[in-house]
Amino acid sequence: MSKDKILIVEDEKEIAELIKDYLTREGYEVIISLDGEQGLRDYRRHVPKLVILDIMLPKLEGTEICRIIRNESNIPILMLSAKKDDVDKILSLGLGADDYVTKPFSLRELVARVKAQLRRYTLLSSVPDRKNRLKYGDLEIDCKGYTVYLSGKKIDLSAKEFEILNFLASSPQQVFTREQIFEQIWGFNEFGDINTVTVHIRKIREKIEREPANPRFIKTVWGVGYKFEGGTDGTRN
Ligand code: CA
Repeated sequence: MSKDKILIVEDEKEIAELIKDYLTREGYEVIISLDGEQGLRDYRRHVPKLVILDIMLPKLEGTEICRIIRNESNIPILMLSAKKDDVDKILSLGLGADDYVTKPFSLRELVARVKAQLRRYTLLSSVPDRKNRLKYGDLEIDCKGYTVYLSGKKIDLSAKEFEILNFLASSPQQVFTREQIFEQIWGFNEFGDINTVTVHIRKIREKIEREPANPRFIKTVWGVGYKFEGGTDGTRN
């Protein structure tokens, strides 16, 4: 049986290593990310079973990562907070974190909570995760495998192109502004040009649309942004 993967996103290396040692002894495979952006990348690369997420992180805040992960998946997220204020923040923002511990915490307590969350999640996920694969007509998005197929043929998308397509297709018919897409994919702290979004959308269309000028999937909503349209035969499975 393969080990359950747990991702720790924590910039205090000593704390991260301590948690890692403890969880490794308990039989988990543990990945550490020392900043927020790395954390998000590692989350997508390793597809962990659970994420332990510090709130105050360089580059991308834990609250933001929590929001992004929750958009894509139901995996348990356990937040680490340094202050009482942070706990209020976790609760009030409705970020969808499953649990939290306040520093300093006992490793035994943390591990007990990790196990409780994993048990709960395993029970829940005996119901198939609807977000593993999105299928709209002849377009199929394998969210966990980071792969897109058109009529069964694998389409070569860059990581950002995939993330944009996956993001839009996860909320069909919902209109997103270019700013929202930019924030979602690149994060708040990156300096960048909003036109990057336009460029990426164009590239995605060239790859997945038969007629990129007359797209079936990613529609332009003039003056607002973009939305994903799956057509009437869209199914999620
Ligand atoms: Ca921190």
